Amino acid sequence: MKKKIRVRFAPSPTGPLHIGGLRTALYNYLFSKKHNGDFILRIEDTDKKRNIKNSINYIIKSLKWCNINYNEGYKNKGKYGPYIQSKRINIYKKYIKILIKKKLAYYSFDKKKDIIKYKKKNKNFIYNSLTRKKLNNSLVLSKDDIINNIKKKKYVIRIKTPNNKNIIFYDKVYGKININTNKIDDKIIFKSNNTPTYHFASVIDDHLMKITHIIRGKEWISSTPIHIIIYNYFKWKIPFFIHLPLILNNNKKGKISKRNINNEFPIYPIISNYKSIKIKKSYEEIGFLPDSLINIIALLGWCPNPRNNKEIYNLKEMIKLFNFKNISKSDVHLNYKKCCWINKKYINKNNKKIQLLIYNKLFKIVKKKIKKYKKKYKNIYIKNVINITKNRINVINDIWNVSYYFFINPKKIHIDKKLIKKLKKNYNKIIIFLQKIKFFFIKKRKKKIIKKFLKKIFKKYKNSIYIKTLRLSIVGKLIGINMLEILYTIKKDKIIKRINNFIKIIK
Ligand code: GLU
Repeated sequence: MKKKIRVRFAPSPTGPLHIGGLRTALYNYLFSKKHNGDFILRIEDTDKKRNIKNSINYIIKSLKWCNINYNEGYKNKGKYGPYIQSKRINIYKKYIKILIKKKLAYYSFDKKKDIIKYKKKNKNFIYNSLTRKKLNNSLVLSKDDIINNIKKKKYVIRIKTPNNKNIIFYDKVYGKININTNKIDDKIIFKSNNTPTYHFASVIDDHLMKITHIIRGKEWISSTPIHIIIYNYFKWKIPFFIHLPLILNNNKKGKISKRNINNEFPIYPIISNYKSIKIKKSYEEIGFLPDSLINIIALLGWCPNPRNNKEIYNLKEMIKLFNFKNISKSDVHLNYKKCCWINKKYINKNNKKIQLLIYNKLFKIVKKKIKKYKKKYKNIYIKNVINITKNRINVINDIWNVSYYFFINPKKIHIDKKLIKKLKKNYNKIIIFLQKIKFFFIKKRKKKIIKKFLKKIFKKYKNSIYIKTLRLSIVGKLIGINMLEILYTIKKDKIIKRINNFIKIIK
């Protein structure tokens, strides 16, 4: 019988979940679903200093918001728990003892400052088989000294890496990787506070939790040889490794980091403020939809179907198509414009349920803004405005930007020098045009008549300068939906007021 596929997403609770973490979670999820396997959430909280209160709940909530459900793991049932490393310390202690006993790991009593000194003296200093004999550790000290030191001194436990051995593994994305042990450190696997480091805890857990495939960011490739050495020392089966390309910052300087949450795009966390975690901007808050965010994230390093240019995929399609073959080796950049393009596709999806959901969100935002400006509008008017402007938004929060002029007078008229020049040149004609429109609106008219009149006058005043000035007077900017639509919708007294105001300004 084929072994069941088991994968894990193993975040450290050091901050909110961001797109890099979400992508790792998503690829693990897609792979497990494709093969009817298990997807496990394990919390790696061994680095106490870096843990941030409430991040665990934040991560879980974000995954839930994106519909990435794990079937085993933290706060879920499963027979390999606990699924949080701080509750597994005794397990790690049991295993570290085995390595110490076999002299495959050792106590290192060296003071931090001594190591720093060595490093200063010798830039290439590495604590391993080439140097450890000259250092202060249990491989060189006498039995009595070791016992004494353990009692009195601070110590860490290091893995004893073999001398001059090539550690070779085959990554399913990056291919054959070969690293000589003389180039790697005897990594600390137990800290002075008697808790394991990530390297040790994660290997022990991956083995005990029967993980078959390790899918994680490329930044862990260089640690993989250490992990393999630990597997070998225990004579455990080594899982498959799949490392994912880095997602680079927009400024192309280094990878994104969850500790850098206040930066601009693309380091956004996924959902908005969660208890003590204050976030300036999140995907949810900006108005990305969960399904579209998943689509965006999926394409960051994976091409579902290289034979076509399709870019919109739902979760089901992604599960069906997922494979490691089409994961890119090169690092990826997040392109905000493309994200918006994809989100827009989802916003305009022809699905009644989604449309209602989106409409409710938009309505709430507009209502809130109207309240902020102390204005009152009938729900039917708001609904109408949303319907005619909605196709201009990329993210939910854009709605006010594309519709404000239906509710409030433009605060400022954005007019550039070139236009002012033109305006001055054609001043009299423009005023006549604007007055015509204004007087027309002063009389009571039915929508049909307005339409007819405007069409006629627009035909006559085809020159873009007229429409531009009209637009400026009503919208304040040279943007917005179709001018006719704007004029049918906004109340006539408001239109008259804005035109009057504009005429005053350009005098
Ligand atoms: N705890 C590690 C992290 O947060 C996980 C690395 C791994 O998947 O092995 O990045």
